[in-house]
Amino acid sequence: MREFQLIQKFFQHEQADLLLTEKAQASVILGIGDDGALLQVSHNKQLVVSVDTLVADVHFPADAKPDDIAERALRTNLSDLAAMGAEPLWFTLALTLPKNSEYSSEEWLRGFSRGLFRTANQHEIVLVGGDTTSGPLSITIQVMGAVEPHHALRRDGASIGDFVCVTNYVGDGAAALAVIQKQLHVTQEDEKYLRDRFYRPVPRLAEANLLRGIASAALDISDGLVADLNHICAASDLGAVIDVENIPLSPALLAINDLQQVRMWALSGGDDYELCFTVSPEKMPELAMLIAQEKIYASVVGEIIAGSGVHCELNGEPFELAQQGFQHF
Ligand code: ADP
Ligand code: MG
Repeated sequence: MREFQLIQKFFQHEQADLLLTEKAQASVILGIGDDGALLQVSHNKQLVVSVDTLVADVHFPADAKPDDIAERALRTNLSDLAAMGAEPLWFTLALTLPKNSEYSSEEWLRGFSRGLFRTANQHEIVLVGGDTTSGPLSITIQVMGAVEPHHALRRDGASIGDFVCVTNYVGDGAAALAVIQKQLHVTQEDEKYLRDRFYRPVPRLAEANLLRGIASAALDISDGLVADLNHICAASDLGAVIDVENIPLSPALLAINDLQQVRMWALSGGDDYELCFTVSPEKMPELAMLIAQEKIYASVVGEIIAGSGVHCELNGEPFELAQQGFQHF
């Protein structure tokens, strides 16, 4: 298959078959097929742009199902838009595929394209261009979204006394990786849950939408709660305390008979794609209301303090972390 046939068949036509929403039709003047995409930016919005590369056997197992790889690639990128409080609009896809291998077969590409557009459709984001080359399997996705001026969720807005919160559960990502790498054995039901958390992390877009105007700072947890909360601390020029006993753990993690390991995964495991955010005491009743109405699932796990860095405590006593979080280099 020639390069342009591949692009047409699996990315251009595949998407053209989908019913694009009104929003997409209005904002994409010219999509895939020319030298560049022509996109209509709302005059009263700011553009949010984020890019991430997923390398085979670093960010996902190369033998994973192509649908799963595509879903994970797009979902983790959408998580960055959520972390900025942005509404998803467009994305581009740079694919590097090994020549004459299973990864450039029609079957693999069909699966990849199926997973990709299933996720894209669900989140109303449109593929508007990309690049296709040969080489070791890697997937780069750039997402673009919009947010009203002054409404973006940033890392630099935390203040002393703010509560530190997380959405849903943390630690599932790292436990899932251990299951996928066959280092951890759990019940069939928990394995299904954890694999799903790994390949189909839920970008917390709905939550972010509700948190604009409530959260003082936010980011998504990709490298581990401690490492990522550290980014909020550094950007806000403050420190934080995490109360380890308050970290929300999923039933699958609570069923694992090694609390020390589970806490390590929750604190420094990474791959959770939950939001970590701060809320001032004045705004706390608004968050509590959203939680009570079950519009958002979130827990308070700590507090912003003077100083720098993240300190962990277990029932008021210092809790030492063996490992700080995922490091690429
Ligand atoms: P050029 O040589 O001008 O860069 P290409 O041949 O690389 O053009 O791409 C042709 C068109 O197909 C462009 O609109 C490009 O954005 C799009 N495209 C290429 N690869 C992909 C891909 N993997 N997914 C979506 N669009 C792609
Ligand atoms: Mg090109």
